[in-house]
Amino acid sequence: MRRHPLAWADVALVEASPALVFSPPHSSPITHHSFLSFSPVVAYLKQPTLVDFPGRLAAIFFLSGCNFRCGYCHNAALLAAHRDGLPWERIEHAATHFRKHWADGVVITGGEPTLAPELPELIHRLKRHGFAIKLDTNGSRPDVLAAVLPEVDYVALDIKCSPATYPRLTGFAEVGRVAQSLDLLRASARTYELRTTLLEAFHTDDDLREVGQWIDGASRLVLQPFLPREDLPDPALRHAPRTSPQKLRAAAELLRPHVRELICRD
Ligand code: SF4
Repeated sequence: MRRHPLAWADVALVEASPALVFSPPHSSPITHHSFLSFSPVVAYLKQPTLVDFPGRLAAIFFLSGCNFRCGYCHNAALLAAHRDGLPWERIEHAATHFRKHWADGVVITGGEPTLAPELPELIHRLKRHGFAIKLDTNGSRPDVLAAVLPEVDYVALDIKCSPATYPRLTGFAEVGRVAQSLDLLRASARTYELRTTLLEAFHTDDDLREVGQWIDGASRLVLQPFLPREDLPDPALRHAPRTSPQKLRAAAELLRPHVRELICRD
């Protein structure tokens, strides 16, 4: 999950464009056809940020559709059936604009970007503008990740919880695929981080110990608090308490021995 919630007021949203085939909610992968005219990008932040791509001023591009159903998702508007993408020429225009205004990175996020058939083309086009690329992923499509990894400079992989509890937290049962993505990053990524959003009532110490064993030896883990919002997919979480600093600290102590670097965001 992207750390900073999508603020739709700051987003240049897609204008009307004809959708040829819609993916129904919960489907995977996305099967719409761009026919070379439409990119998979449904929105981008108007201003680049310094907070999403370590060491870079980065533009943020959003792709729609996700094969997980995390009740605490901050980008729920992007979860269901994909939205039509912006025309490629608009992406080219935005990329030129961002380069002129000092951005040197692009974060491709979602939703789950690896569901979009046009992801390789998007990365390729953005690389031609000279951007470093950061890809946010839930790790469910290791084959796609492997295909694009040579052109990606930084990967942020969500490690939601222990393997056994993935179906309960995310609705996604094929956790072996996430494990494959993790193995791939350990073996081949230039730079990567793992990210876990801590839910006070869900992530027990036992669960976190299993996470620690699973990711043991990884280079960087980012722990971030759960933040309640009115538009979360799970109504029960909309007014649940934010993860406490004590819980974050306790989780950090449990997990720090398993990674080379641990970062707590609050
Ligand atoms: S993986 Fe979960 S948090 Fe991330 S976009 Fe999908 S539903 Fe939202």
